[in-house]
Amino acid sequence: MVVLLKKDPNKQQLEGLISWLQSKNIEVHPTVGQTRTILGLIGDTSVIDIDLIRALDIVEDVKRIQEPYKNANRKFHPDDTIIDVSGVKIGGGNFAVIAGPCSVESEEQICSVAESVKASGANLLRGGAFKPRTSPYSFQGMRADGIRLLLEAREKTGLPIVTEIMDAEQLPLFEDVDVIQVGARNMQNFELLKKLGKLDKPVLLKRGFSSTLEELLMSAEYIMAGGNSKVILCERGIRTFETATRNTLDLSAIPVLKELTHLPVVVDPSHATGIARLVAPMSLAATAAGADGLIIEVHNDPTRALCDGPQSLTPEAFDSLAKQIRHMQAALA
Ligand code: PEP
Ligand code: MN
Repeated sequence: MVVLLKKDPNKQQLEGLISWLQSKNIEVHPTVGQTRTILGLIGDTSVIDIDLIRALDIVEDVKRIQEPYKNANRKFHPDDTIIDVSGVKIGGGNFAVIAGPCSVESEEQICSVAESVKASGANLLRGGAFKPRTSPYSFQGMRADGIRLLLEAREKTGLPIVTEIMDAEQLPLFEDVDVIQVGARNMQNFELLKKLGKLDKPVLLKRGFSSTLEELLMSAEYIMAGGNSKVILCERGIRTFETATRNTLDLSAIPVLKELTHLPVVVDPSHATGIARLVAPMSLAATAAGADGLIIEVHNDPTRALCDGPQSLTPEAFDSLAKQIRHMQAALA
């Protein structure tokens, strides 16, 4: 970290700043220029609140040289992390397709979608049991029954399951779930992230719709700092001024994240676009851009879906997309 001081800083305040930094085990190296002094800080500056320093009267500007996340940082872990989800690997060249309905609606629905996506080559089954809906009057999910039905679908198909948690008090219900999803709305629910950090279970962490990539990585850091390094990042579109799609898929997030972190990156083209016919082109684009996997909504009868029907693929459309994804992968190999 580098601190640029204002001209002629108050000596007492400067000494106060230096001794405060030293008390945090930071070495301070002043460089006195003709008009300005710069302090070079060496040590674990992740413990320093950059805004606190910036707010000081004697400080002109502060710059971080190193990223504030350590566990998620590729600099300290150059090799790709490969996450093993009950036998299915994600990352480091292992591409995973996660497919299934937005919400679990019935035994018949989840089991039939599970069978069909499996036959098309999906590696994991998704399905929401706890649904974060904008309106409290919309379908809120089947909750505990939904998780029970997902486990039943796993039993029938062998597909590991991914489902969203909304509150730490639901954790006991997630004991047998293979991947816990943290949705966009909870990306910065730090207390929840800390609790997930105590588990030995993969977490699919979705990007908040107004979060920067650094904020996404800091949320991953919350989980990893607790000891759980099994974090899968998910780009699911962000809010922009564009209204033609539900969100705007930030495709550049894929190569940027792959540079910054060793964690696997999957893409959700369903929530990113909100429109079923855009899911295939965006899935192929994400695959070409280097994603480690995709999470795609598939419903047996999208027009009657209780949630997110307009963006859900039919099993037939998913089958044809799965083939195209394999062709894209072959073309890239
Ligand atoms: C979901 O995956 O069903 C979901 C609600 O996604 P997001 O958190 O990305 O909106
Ligand atoms: Mn959905």
